[in-house]
Amino acid sequence: MSDHAPDRRRDEPPVLAVAVEPARLSAALVDDRGEVVVRDRVSMPARDVWRTLERLVRRVLAAAPTSSAPFTRVGASCVGPVDEQAGTVWPPYVASWSSFALRDHLESLTDRPTIVASAGAAAAEAERLHGEAGAVSSYLAVVADAVVGSACVIDDVRLSGAHGNAGAIAHVTVDPLGLPCWCGGSGCLEPYLSSIALEAELNRPLRRANASTIERGGIMLGRAIATMCATVDVDTVFVTGGVVDVFGDALLHTARRELAARSRLPNLSGVTIVEPVEHIGPSVRAAALARGRGPMATME
Ligand SMILES: [Zn+2]
Repeated sequence: MSDHAPDRRRDEPPVLAVAVEPARLSAALVDDRGEVVVRDRVSMPARDVWRTLERLVRRVLAAAPTSSAPFTRVGASCVGPVDEQAGTVWPPYVASWSSFALRDHLESLTDRPTIVASAGAAAAEAERLHGEAGAVSSYLAVVADAVVGSACVIDDVRLSGAHGNAGAIAHVTVDPLGLPCWCGGSGCLEPYLSSIALEAELNRPLRRANASTIERGGIMLGRAIATMCATVDVDTVFVTGGVVDVFGDALLHTARRELAARSRLPNLSGVTIVEPVEHIGPSVRAAALARGRGPMATME
């Protein structure tokens, strides 16, 4: 390993990255600079999800260039709640995967140590490895996409919690009398900021959402961030994802205004919401789990 800091991971072998999203399965080999060596994706099947993912992983491994070093670890991210310690997942809108033992299945398939964590945890790890959080010691990373994912890093440690969902804001209550959520509750942030929930509510594509829907999303996001920042004492919130791409500055301006209105203590006055310039894709995020400074550090 070189002692030249920016190149310290240059000689590390690639990681097999697996990303489970509501509508899509991805597998990729990702090198130590966060560049995708080979990748393939399929739509989420109605049944036989594991068999589909198994075939996808085999296809990606078979397509690896002969010059590529063998992968030594697997990082798998999954939307929705996870049990990081047990390696099980419950991706919303994937009915056949309720408490599915994804880590055991991937370890049997690849014979490599595997970390399974939430899509939010993957985003938090990737932001400090490849994004803008490298010099930030305490932050929240939020991905507003098909569903909402997030995780927090406190004093340079990504928190896991009893099950691996520390820092998840998707099901924080932002309006006690609000919209129903897929979790069975109501008034969670999720239905205001998930593209699946919004498109179902509006009955049209996200890009045709009206200004009031965007404003509402910004208010709810600002409320959820205010709650989180008051609790876990982060000063930077990275917000990214497809919904942010479509709703743009209107969403973030409203979220910042709402955050400021609800964060009146002096220690909360400096909280900033940042939209990273570079969009880090799901495969690179998942790979970051296997290289991050989170729970993987104990897997040697
Ligand atoms: Zn909910």
